[in-house]
Amino acid sequence: MRLCPVCSQANTDLARFCLACGASLTSEPSREERKFVSVLFADLVGFTSRAEQLDPEDVRAVLAPYWERLRSELEKRGGTVEKFIGDAVMALFGAPVAHDDDPLRAVGAALAIPRRRGGRRVGARVAAR
Ligand SMILES: [Zn+2]
Repeated sequence: MRLCPVCSQANTDLARFCLACGASLTSEPSREERKFVSVLFADLVGFTSRAEQLDPEDVRAVLAPYWERLRSELEKRGGTVEKFIGDAVMALFGAPVAHDDDPLRAVGAALAIPRRRGGRRVGARVAAR
């Protein structure tokens, strides 16, 4: 006899779904996985107001080398760029590949990013939850 985990209805051993509520009685392995990750956000200080006065081509000319440098700094430390949104980047440390020292890697990347390049300041902040 199998008891339904949802409604406690008794079901036959052969039943794969509860007779009363239809809940699954077989425990399927979950494909989801909980991981601790460090998430890094960075963006260019004052970029939005500056970009408003630039042509789209000039904005791209500023952003392309910036994206390239950020990706390089992040990947060199084991991070994965999740997405670029304009001048902002979101990167993960700990997924899809985890390291013992992912938080330290994220902090190392965050400290490396703000170096001045071409008179531009680059901001970075690391938060742990
Ligand atoms: Zn049930």
